[in-house]
This record gives sequence, structure tokens and C-alpha cells, in this order.
Amino acid sequence: MLDFATLGEEFFKPIETQPLKDTFLIHKNQSLYSKIGLDLEGNALLKVASGEQKFQDTQPIASIYAGHQFGYFTPQLGDGRSCLIGQTNGYEFSLKGAGQTPYSRGADGRAVLRSSIREYLCSIAMRGLNIATTEALTLVGSETEVYRENIETGAIVMRTAPSHIRFGHFELFASRGQKDAVKKLADFVIERHYPECQGDDKYVDFLAIVVKRTAKMIAGWQAQGFAHGVMNTDNMSILGLTIDYGPFGFLETYDPHFICNHSDHEGRYAFDQQPGIGLWNLSRLADALSSLITGKQAKTALADYQPHLVHYYSTLMRQKFGLLTKDEQDNQLIGNFLSLLHQHKKDYTNSIRNLSNLARLADDKHYKTWLKTYQSRIQQDKNPKRSELMNRVNPKFILRNYLAEVAIRKAQNEKDYSEIDTLFNLLANPFDEHSDFKTYTNIAPDWAQELEISCSS
Ligand code: AMP
Ligand code: MG
Repeated sequence: MLDFATLGEEFFKPIETQPLKDTFLIHKNQSLYSKIGLDLEGNALLKVASGEQKFQDTQPIASIYAGHQFGYFTPQLGDGRSCLIGQTNGYEFSLKGAGQTPYSRGADGRAVLRSSIREYLCSIAMRGLNIATTEALTLVGSETEVYRENIETGAIVMRTAPSHIRFGHFELFASRGQKDAVKKLADFVIERHYPECQGDDKYVDFLAIVVKRTAKMIAGWQAQGFAHGVMNTDNMSILGLTIDYGPFGFLETYDPHFICNHSDHEGRYAFDQQPGIGLWNLSRLADALSSLITGKQAKTALADYQPHLVHYYSTLMRQKFGLLTKDEQDNQLIGNFLSLLHQHKKDYTNSIRNLSNLARLADDKHYKTWLKTYQSRIQQDKNPKRSELMNRVNPKFILRNYLAEVAIRKAQNEKDYSEIDTLFNLLANPFDEHSDFKTYTNIAPDWAQELEISCSS
């Protein structure tokens, strides 16, 4: 039985997965597979990963949650197309796209190949960047037709995480006035995932840790240029993991107000809004915990969010700029560089990667003045390992939209899945040189300038 199922029936419904037609394993995350210590070979793995066979006779379930979507509360959501199918060695397995559940709200319970490839690749990219995330284990394709703007084919990603519980799980029970259920859920999460929270103030300590982990996760997003796209509270993990990859995007041309989700007309989830939204979402979690902690306690815990975020972000940015010692002017130095990138429409990832070898920037007139200041600043540090250290935090490879699109088109049109494997290997180790794959650092070609990523998935 799933650990989650011990919570009781108000938290979930048992479901039957609805298999797809003619499934095939497109990719498997081998290192994760070994780490988890799974022993499902060949066909057995495919059967479990496609929902055709139960995992060790475990009853699959869909959990119920609520959430604030684009600022407005939706009283009931839930796993509409995902389900928990098993657990082992501290990892839960969740299938996304294995059919309808009682929470599908009229939708088909499916996920298309296109969005599944994006989720699969992005979770390894985030892992590669050392940003806390759910991790995809397998990607399964099929011949089942799925209807979106076009007819596409269905796919299933198997996600793994120690827990897939979201802020929205707490919000559902709180909004219904079910204080016992809120307490039960909090006790469950604390016991299994935050055992350090004990004693009289355990719920405050719990909120404080979620605040800290969320701040750390979002600092990672901001430093590495990741925009989530749909930061609704039902897409916020109680463990501070990046979850629910949909219309996400990495910053390419540097634009702090980058909006990756073309359905986000007001830019609520624009890149530079993410830190503030993180706090807003945590405040909704704190509201949901109001039967367990006082308003004053919640306020104190939330007040630590910004200092945590600033701490983690500036630590990362200092590493990215190769700054060892601290200087009062450092923030300005970094800020000025980002302004130059914005003003001259430079690529965020490549420009910062190039800072480890200043010869690469020397010919660019835009950087001339800034480089002089930077050069004298790094001379202060006298750090012989500067380049090497910088190359360990500044990725050479990110999941550029056009790279994902090439992999998607090859998969859709030619049933050629090799590009997924190539990207997977680059993104799993994005700091390595991979000298033969230099073209994967190229900025988007003309045909990809207008690629639009919507919520349709
Ligand atoms: P998302 O924006 O992908 O996080 O989804 C928001 C909610 O809609 C979640 O409760 C999902 O389970 C549900 N949902 C999204 N797409 C589908 C679908 N194709 N079938 C059923 N439920 C879906
Ligand atoms: Mg979601």
C-alpha cells in the first residue's frame, strides 16, 4: 500500500489506469533508475511505466487538492491526469497521462508526446543544474490519438519524488474547514519528510522549512534563468521541488520580464515576478495552516523568505561571476552586466559562461567599459581556479525551446527519438564541455523565433 494511502479515503480515490495503444519505451533515466534500485527489466518496466501493469500490486490512486490559479481560488482540482502507482526506497512513482480520474473535470486524462518530451527533458535539465526538482524516470510513447489543437499522440512520463504533495492539498481541506485533515496531512508530511520539526512549535518549524526550501528553489530558477510559467499553488511542492513542467522556458535573450507561457497575458508569472509569487504562494500555504499556527507565527516565518532568497541568489550569482571575496560594489557590478545583456539583447547563458574566458568577450564593444571594472575586481581575488569554478555553475547547455522543438518534431514526424537521448545527455551534465556538441549552444535560429508555448499539453 502507498504511504500516502494511509492518510485515509478523504485524501484520494483509488483509480484504474487506462493504458495507451501500442506503447513503447522512448527513454529511461538510467542513473536515476540505478539510484532508486529498481529491478524492472525490459517489458516489465514498459508495462509499469505505461500503466498496463500495477507496480508490485499497488493500488493506484489519484489525490485531491485545490489551488490558487492565476490568483483565484479553485476549490477543487486534484490529480486529473496523474496518479500515484507505487513507491520504493523513498521515491513515489507518479504516471502523468495514464487516463481519467475522478478529478479530470471533463478533460481526457492524457498528456501528449510533445509536452511529455518537454517535461522529461526539463526535469533532467533542472537536476543537472542542481535545482530541486521532481525527476522523470521514463518516457513512454504510444499510437493513441489525443485531441488538442491538432491530433497528437499520447505519452506517459513517470515522475518520481519523495512526495508529490502540493500546497493545494492543504488548501483544499483548510477551505472546507476540515481542520483535522489539515493536521493529519501536516503530521504526515512532517513525520516522513521533515523529522527535524518536533516539539511544541513543529507546525511553525514546518512552515519555516518550506519557506526556506521554496526560497532556495526559486533562487536557483532566477540564477539559472528558468521560468516555470504556471506558478499556481497547486503546482508548488511541499518539499520545495520544481514540479509540473508545462509552458516553462529558459531565458535565452536576456529579458527580466520574459513571459514563457503565451496564455499568461498579464505576465503574472513573468520571470522577474517569480520571487514575489513564491512569497504569495507561501502566504496561501500559511493561510491553510492557520488552524495550526497563529497569524503572528505565520508572519514571522514568511518574513524570512526574502532574506533566504537574497542569500541563496546572491551566493549563486557571486559564484557565477567568479567572485570569492566580498566587495560593496559587487551587486552593482553584476547588475550592470545584466543591464548590458538586456540592452543589447544578449544570450543570458552564453554570455555568463563566456565570463570564465574573458578573451571571448574582449572583441565585443558593448562590454568594453564593464570588462575593465570586472578585470580589476577579479584581480583583487587572485583566484587561480576562477575559470574552473565558474564553469561548474555556469551551464554551457540549457533546454532552449528550439532544441526541444527539434527533438519533438523528429519524434512526431519521423519516430526518431535519438535527439531526446542527445539532449538528455547534454542536459544531465550541462557544465561539461561536450566539445562535439557546440552547436547546441547556438541561439535560436530564425525559424524558432516565433515558437509559442501554451498551456495546451
Ligand atoms: P496543470 O496546469 O497542468 O498543472 O493542470 C491543472 C489541473 O488540471 C490539474 O488538476 C490537472 O490534473 C488538470 N488537468 C490538466 N490537463 C488535464 C487533462 N488532459 N486531463 C485531465 N486533467 C487535466
Ligand atoms: Mg498542475
